Amino acid sequence: MRVTHGLPLARQTTLGIGGPAAVFADLQDLADFPEFVSLADSFPGAPTCLGAGSNALVADAGCSSPVLRMNTKGVRFVGEAVDGRTLVEVQAGHPLSDLVDTALGHGLIGLEMLAGIPGTVGATPVQNVGAYGQEISDTLVEVTAWDWLTRRRVTLDAAACRLGHRTSVFKGSSRWTLLTVVFALRKSVLSAPISYRMVAERLDIPVGSQVPPAEASQAVLAVRRGKGMVLGFSDVDRRTVGSVFFSPELTPAQVRQLEDEGAAVNRFPDGSTRVSASWLIRRAGFALGSPVAKGVRVSYLHHTLIADVGASAAGFTEAIDVVVQRVLERTGIRLTPEIDFLGDWHEGHYSTVVESTISGPTGR
Ligand SMILES: Cc1cc2nc3c(=O)[nH]c(=O)nc-3n(C[C@H](O)[C@H](O)[C@H](O)COP(=O)(O)OP(=O)(O)OC[C@H]3O[C@@H](n4cnc5c(N)ncnc54)[C@H](O)[C@@H]3O)c2cc1C
Repeated sequence: MRVTHGLPLARQTTLGIGGPAAVFADLQDLADFPEFVSLADSFPGAPTCLGAGSNALVADAGCSSPVLRMNTKGVRFVGEAVDGRTLVEVQAGHPLSDLVDTALGHGLIGLEMLAGIPGTVGATPVQNVGAYGQEISDTLVEVTAWDWLTRRRVTLDAAACRLGHRTSVFKGSSRWTLLTVVFALRKSVLSAPISYRMVAERLDIPVGSQVPPAEASQAVLAVRRGKGMVLGFSDVDRRTVGSVFFSPELTPAQVRQLEDEGAAVNRFPDGSTRVSASWLIRRAGFALGSPVAKGVRVSYLHHTLIADVGASAAGFTEAIDVVVQRVLERTGIRLTPEIDFLGDWHEGHYSTVVESTISGPTGR
């Protein structure tokens, strides 16, 4: 485990925003985790966990609690589930994109639509990562985690993780540090049914068809590139967290209204019906590339917020507020942030929208 003092967290996040970490521990070997527990014990409060920083907005003040960067890697095939699926145990710091490729290489399906999503496997249960009709909840069997409340290593099965639409028992809480994740993946020569129109169009097949899994992944990647939703694809829009806001749940009346206005409304595995935040942001009149607050603008490719020259956490939260207010005024729908606010956010220094997000469930 490498420990550094005063490391700027901006370099550890895809937004490139955030002050220094008082203590930054880079964990590459799970065997060193007890050493981190001893280190964290000399600080008040729960430590902060960071994967690849692709869903995180770190405060300008940085982080006074120890920051643990999960950098542990490894994929193990650990047996068969009762339904015949292959069980795969993955270290929390392992890149999701590598896991998707490994699964495809072994003829296993269940993760193929998640191609192109940045970040680590340990972060995937936190917001039940998902895209194009597939979610981590489809394949997650259990996680092992360190519970900072009971000070024990625990195993939580899928039910205990309470995975919902971009949420779980871990979202907004620093109680657990996820150490490993076990997935059950199915051997198949065909992908899951293609449920998204844009992906089906790319493949030139009807919605609901199945194709070889690698073809499904490639089509998803192509659609994502077109929206700047793959890191490193667009240089100008490279400081991104993907979607900043949840796709809001709609009432039946809102579904009817938005479908009349041409919105693509999607039904999710938890039974909810939602429209993408990007559709609402466009509807509210934000033009691609337009500035929203100091150092923050709309992406050139997609209706999401991007950090630019002069960006700060204060500017980004101001931009969040501007978008939430204007979308509410123009569409009657309230957006809420999906990104995680990490570090020392001092009361009164940020907007009411952000404050209400941060004061959700917290640590030990
Ligand atoms: C271009 C782009 C596209 C994206 N597209 C999608 C998408 O399609 N679907 C989607 O769901 N998300 C998407 N995201 C968001 C992001 O990639 C995911 O949320 C991802 O899982 C974050 O992983 P990370 O390792 O970067 O986590 P981080 O950003 O480092 O952390 C995210 C949260 O998880 C916590 N955390 C991280 N690791 C652990 C751990 N081991 N134990 C406990 N808590 C932990 C952190 O404390 C923080 O609260 C996108 C992001 C970008 C930049």
